[in-house]
Parts: sequence; structure tokens; C-alpha cells
Amino acid sequence: MAHDDKQRTGKQVWQRLIDGNMRFVQGLFQGRNLLDLRRTLTQGQQPEAAVLCCSDSRVPAEIIFDQSLGDLFVVRTAGLVLDPTSIGSLEYAVAHLHVPLLVIKGHEGCGAVTAAVNHPETDEGHISAIVKQIAPAAAKARATGKSGAALVEEATCHHLKYLKKALCEKSRIISEALDQERLDLVVAKYELKSGRVLLLKATFFESF
Ligand SMILES: [Zn+2]
Repeated sequence: MAHDDKQRTGKQVWQRLIDGNMRFVQGLFQGRNLLDLRRTLTQGQQPEAAVLCCSDSRVPAEIIFDQSLGDLFVVRTAGLVLDPTSIGSLEYAVAHLHVPLLVIKGHEGCGAVTAAVNHPETDEGHISAIVKQIAPAAAKARATGKSGAALVEEATCHHLKYLKKALCEKSRIISEALDQERLDLVVAKYELKSGRVLLLKATFFESF
């Protein structure tokens, strides 16, 4: 989708991603000539969306949204945790590749969130840095009295809210692009069982 000349809005790009996700759910992947595409893309990239998603092997954005080479600028960290390099990568997509859409895509059954729920005090290597960032969301979720899988999903919901807020607060490049309406932001969650990506929040909806 990155090869048309027309600049789409964030909302239009999101619709294309959702259309792709519907193809993924149904197993109807779009046929593509990857050889031609690969050759064309040697001239440069023009992705239409940046995606922050989990490193979990079950949740690759390109496959879930049925996209191809050159379509998505993807930043993956376990649990979607942020640090200067992951934020900088997203900023690059906004400031230099001019993506009109940034997607924060969490997922059901996230192992990093589960670790933060079950072992918030872990000091295991650098894994502790991931868990510590998610631990406040896990603590908020615990206060609801939920347990088991419901507790993990509640914590995921709080963590996604934190990520949205943190990205806007920590990145002037991203917050200015949002303010100037050059960028839309979507918060979404991938369901492992159904394969669907559910939209939770979007700047193009009033509830954001
Ligand atoms: Zn995960």
C-alpha cells in the first residue's frame, strides 16, 4: 500500500489496516509480487503507518494486517515497553518518513504483562526493566479484585493507556504532530483466538 502517490489520512490508513486484518482473519491473504516489490523498494521506503507492538512471535504486525514489504514501520519490544531508542524509532517514522498514522497494538495473553502481574519485583537480568515499566499497570489492575486471565487483560488495558500518555508526554515530535493533525494515533488490541485487531482509542474519534 506504500506505493501509491496519494497521501492518505491516518483514518484512511487505519481502514486499510482493518481491511487487511479482515483478510488475515479469513485466511484470504492478498497476492503480491515480492520480487518486483523488493526491487522497487531499493529506491527508498514510504510506509504509511508506524506500529508499536510486542516482540511475541504470534503478533507480527505485517502478517496480522496482511501488509507487505515497505508498508509498515514496526517497533517491537516485549510488552511494548518504551525507552529512548524505541521512542526515537517512532519519532523517525513521524518526522522523516511522515507516516500519517501511529498504532499502539497490544495483545491478548501478553507474557510481559503476565510477568508484571505475577512477578513485579523480579530482578532477572534486563527482563526486570520490562517488568518494572508494566508493574504500575499491574498494580492498578490488581486493585479491581480481578484474578487470572481477567487480571492480565485488565493490566494490559492500563498499560496501553500508559503507553499512549507516555508517548505524548515523552516525545515532542509525536505530540506536536498530533497537535498539528499531521498524525493520528490508534490504540488497539489483538485477540489471539479470533485473530481480530480491536480498536480501543483513536484520535479520529471523539472519545480519544
Ligand atoms: Zn506480548
